[in-house]
Amino acid sequence: MIERTLSIVKPDAVTKNAIGAILETFENGGLTVVATKMVKLTKAQAEGFYAVHSERPFFPTLTDFMSEGPIVVSVLEGENAIARHRELLGATDPAEAEEGTVRKRFGTNIERNATHGSDAPDTAAFEIGYFFNALELHRR
Ligand code: ADP
Ligand code: MG
Repeated sequence: MIERTLSIVKPDAVTKNAIGAILETFENGGLTVVATKMVKLTKAQAEGFYAVHSERPFFPTLTDFMSEGPIVVSVLEGENAIARHRELLGATDPAEAEEGTVRKRFGTNIERNATHGSDAPDTAAFEIGYFFNALELHRR
């Protein structure tokens, strides 16, 4: 099934100059970029994006991190894009991620883990809508 998913290059990976290498990994992994832009979130915008985690102990530091510098948000399209993207990202904790995955290559720790990927069709729809309007999503 052709799906769309939201991908974020987080502030740590932007600082590491890894935007190109990360998007290349997605393209080489069978996914197509149908929208992309660089934005800097306010703390409140980061809290809105991660509202589902608002009760977690790491919510305050996670939202500080996500608003500390620019991020690159993209919509990726392809066959089973949600699962495929998360496979390319690797485990949440870079220390546990498989060799060659994006988080293994560019992540620092479980919080500063280089990338975000939607985890299901309903969260993908919310997350894509959080950053992009219909005119910014391109058919391929
Ligand atoms: P994923 O991004 O793999 O879907 P989660 O949805 O569980 O992982 O968590 C969202 C984000 O919160 C993670 O990508 C990471 O940046 C951060 N995070 C997750 N677990 C922890 C933790 N135990 N301590 C600090 N930050 C965490
Ligand atoms: Mg998640």
